[in-house]
Amino acid sequence: MSSSIAQSAIANLKEASLEDVLYIPSQQTYDAREGSYWSLTPRLSPWAIVQPRNAEEVSKAIKALVKTDGCKFAIRSGGHMSWNGAGNNIEEGVTIDLGLMAKTTYNPETKLASLQPGGRWTNVYADVEKHGVMVAGGREGLVGVGGLLTGGGLTFFTCRDGWGCDQVVNYEVVLADGSIVEANDTMNPDLFRVLKGGHNNFGIVTRFDMKIFAAKNVWDGSIVHSKAVTNEVIEAYVDFQTKLVDSPDSHVLAMWVYMPQTPEYFINVVVTSLDGVENTKPFQKLLTVPGQQNITSKTIASKVAEFLVPSGRFDSWLTVTFELDERIIKKAAVLFEGLMEELRKSIPDSNFSISMVFQPLLASWTQHSVAKGGNMLGLERIPENCVILIVAVEVETFELSTKVSTPALKAMFSEIGSYATSLEKNVDFLYLNYCGDSQDPLSTYGEENLKKMREASAKYDPTGVFQERVPGGFKISKVKI
Ligand SMILES: Cc1cc2nc3c(=O)[nH]c(=O)nc-3n(C[C@H](O)[C@H](O)[C@H](O)COP(=O)(O)OP(=O)(O)OC[C@H]3O[C@@H](n4cnc5c(N)ncnc54)[C@H](O)[C@@H]3O)c2cc1C
Repeated sequence: MSSSIAQSAIANLKEASLEDVLYIPSQQTYDAREGSYWSLTPRLSPWAIVQPRNAEEVSKAIKALVKTDGCKFAIRSGGHMSWNGAGNNIEEGVTIDLGLMAKTTYNPETKLASLQPGGRWTNVYADVEKHGVMVAGGREGLVGVGGLLTGGGLTFFTCRDGWGCDQVVNYEVVLADGSIVEANDTMNPDLFRVLKGGHNNFGIVTRFDMKIFAAKNVWDGSIVHSKAVTNEVIEAYVDFQTKLVDSPDSHVLAMWVYMPQTPEYFINVVVTSLDGVENTKPFQKLLTVPGQQNITSKTIASKVAEFLVPSGRFDSWLTVTFELDERIIKKAAVLFEGLMEELRKSIPDSNFSISMVFQPLLASWTQHSVAKGGNMLGLERIPENCVILIVAVEVETFELSTKVSTPALKAMFSEIGSYATSLEKNVDFLYLNYCGDSQDPLSTYGEENLKKMREASAKYDPTGVFQERVPGGFKISKVKI
């Protein structure tokens, strides 16, 4: 460790009584925490990792780092965001790792669940299900609470009740000056509003108090299809989305998957009926497409515990949103195959994987968000039913990722974008939690929301700590419009 800034930062953290949760390179806990990022891409080499145990210790850490001239830092919850400037880790600086703040509690009197940011959804669901209740969160077990909810949150319940962030009624937040505040409809309401999707721009959230639903068994599982029925799956998916608005208890993730060294891709359609009702109307056409079905009744906790996406490679992600249109989905499927063929030629032993996921973004969701006071995503501007597409490519080395897979993925997205634009179906919305480093989601959230975020940043972080000293992630100060 060469930098004198690093040495001052560590000395200041020790002086703040954080020595017993402070780890430097080569210490076992440091290596274990680095190894626990989902993707290899954000496994950087911070000068130190500090793991506060409560909001007071987060406050001490912020104060210590802010008073260290020139010291930058990162904020990590689950560590699932997978680009190396995502803000969950840092090369020349210190990482505040919230992994020890992972508790979930439920208060039957207030009917609110309180989630600490370092929790993983698999544990959150298991904890709340013990009380017969459920919260809206991630659909993969190990994704973290903090990043998903500060970035928006597509959940099983989004179609029925709005985004994950719409379910938060109160945030406990540590601000840039170390003060610990509550943000809700009556206390700091402007901060409350911008935290709903505004990402890591305003403070470190140390507790999310959330609305709950009754826990029910879901009817859930996979239908695995071969490439041969690609067009039938797409037509059935479009039918599903068209019927979804009248039956919002049905949830689908339609995933195209290529695994290393396999001859072909397959399609995995994951269906979930939230009230446990079998064969709901939106699923009916999907269920007639030939495929291997494995759908059973289960709890959400057991479902996400068994749905863990393998990790440990270098990732490139991109997302786009377009109006629901079969032609664009078919075009994306053709481009997916083209990407697969191209990477097969350039990556030794075809050792890469690609997943492409289609999921709905319905105009009706906005009414749930608006009814709960609104969020930062700005979807009121978009009256059409849309599709959010995300494609993720995973490779074995950083070099392959930067030189081969990322450029190929960008070329694919450029074609999808041009095609959607040629049909006048491109939609100006990028879901932040699915974006890659070349994308600028906040600029798609609408002028009014940008203004609110800029004002809140100036008010709650007047010296720009979360803009300059926490450089990672999507910064409101960097948005050009
Ligand atoms: C396998 C997989 C499945 C996924 N499934 C879903 C899904 O179902 N729905 C969905 O919406 N998204 C999903 N995502 C995307 C996911 O929402 C983002 O990657 C999210 O950022 C992960 O949360 P995290 O806590 O792990 O974030 P981290 O990687 O720890 O952090 C992500 C960002 O949030 C900031 N941040 C984290 N915690 C805080 C905090 N407490 N206060 C302020 N800022 C904070 C960080 O600085 C960073 O910029 C998935 C991702 C993966 C890899």
